[in-house]
Amino acid sequence: MMATRESAIAAALEFFDAGKFRERLSDLVAIPSTSQDPGHAPDVRHYLEGATGPWLERMGFSVQVHPNPLPGNGPILTAERIEDPARPTVLTYGHGDTVRGLDEQWDAGLRPWVLTEAGDRWYGRGTADNKGQHAINLTALEHVLAARGGKLGFNLKIVLETSEERGSKGLREFVAAHTEALKADVLIASDGPRVASHVPTLSTGTRGSFHFDLVLKLRPGGVHSGNWGGMTTDPAIVLAHAIGAICDRNGKILVRGWLPRNGMPNSVRAALAGCDMVAEGEAATIDPGWGEPGFSAAEKIYGWTSFIVLAMLSGRPENPVNAVAPDAVAHCQIRYTVDVDPAQFAPALRAHLDAAGFPEIAIEHAGIGMPASRTNPDDPWVGFVRASMENALGRRVQVIPNAGGGLPGDVFVDYLHVPLVWIPHSYNGCKQHGPNEHLLIAPAREGLAAFTGIWWDLGEK
Ligand SMILES: [Zn+2]
Repeated sequence: MMATRESAIAAALEFFDAGKFRERLSDLVAIPSTSQDPGHAPDVRHYLEGATGPWLERMGFSVQVHPNPLPGNGPILTAERIEDPARPTVLTYGHGDTVRGLDEQWDAGLRPWVLTEAGDRWYGRGTADNKGQHAINLTALEHVLAARGGKLGFNLKIVLETSEERGSKGLREFVAAHTEALKADVLIASDGPRVASHVPTLSTGTRGSFHFDLVLKLRPGGVHSGNWGGMTTDPAIVLAHAIGAICDRNGKILVRGWLPRNGMPNSVRAALAGCDMVAEGEAATIDPGWGEPGFSAAEKIYGWTSFIVLAMLSGRPENPVNAVAPDAVAHCQIRYTVDVDPAQFAPALRAHLDAAGFPEIAIEHAGIGMPASRTNPDDPWVGFVRASMENALGRRVQVIPNAGGGLPGDVFVDYLHVPLVWIPHSYNGCKQHGPNEHLLIAPAREGLAAFTGIWWDLGEK
């Protein structure tokens, strides 16, 4: 019988429903490949050389594991399967490293390196970020290869890095040095959350992140609160007011130079029309009164700038003493889209703080964490993949102009000039960097069907 798109998807789902995908993911989760603990460097290497590398070789890829160009960071796997240079070449990406296990913090009965099914979830470190996501896509690929008698009908290149959880260290240098080998027509890959667990999502970039510290140092040490309190300046109070000058009581950013200069682009607004955000799991609430007034939740997270105080400190909270503290510091973050120039963040803040009466607050350690990236949501590749997904799933796919969080898409845009098509399989309640990380089974199953359809369609004439 001639295999069809439908039969390939049916075979992939049969594999999934028989528990075989879960088994495969269990094996990957069992490798404690955290990049945040140097003691696990052999596990990180094993993830590439002992697990994913051999799997890719079985699928006819030529595989290479390269040392990271920045010493002390994890290796990078590349693989390619070239059938016909005249056919499209797709680049896909994933990361085999995870954050720390945090073994002792998981709920009873759960452990980071053992995949555990409970209800509609698969628990385990890396199930969502990112092992489960790239494993879904490669499993889909396997089924298209089988259905097409060992052919894909297109060319595929793969980059699997292992320092993503340390800020993708070395990836930029690596891609810059391998532009010819990694040349492709489009990047299609998976990471991060859907807009809601039941909404198939396609994202064409990511927001960037920018960090800085606000620092107020007034004196060499604390002074007695009885003898000095009331007549000497309290740095914690001044810093709190300075933060209040940056962002109002309801989360509206007051440093207007941080915002998209021409407002939200029409293409972004149009893509987000009707995109309903839901808070899932026990993660957090969506507070309608928080953030830029007049915007929907989706516009705030995908189309605008956010300001977050990651941590702040004055004195010693764990051991308070009767003293006016000598200093206060706040570690801050901005999440931004390509509609803002990050070179403006520090100068705009300095001018704003000076004008607001806070010249004594210093801005230190300012810099970009991950740059922002965005492919135009109207790009033909976006339309192609969206149509393919909607065909496989029989449902509308929500296109977002960029994900809220960071991914290293900018690296592929800068050096390979590829459009970005991210198809996340997780959701915002997945606890990916804390204890109890999990992947929802239903979206994983849908992701497998969607990717089998996408890989199939890429090989069509
Ligand atoms: Zn992560």
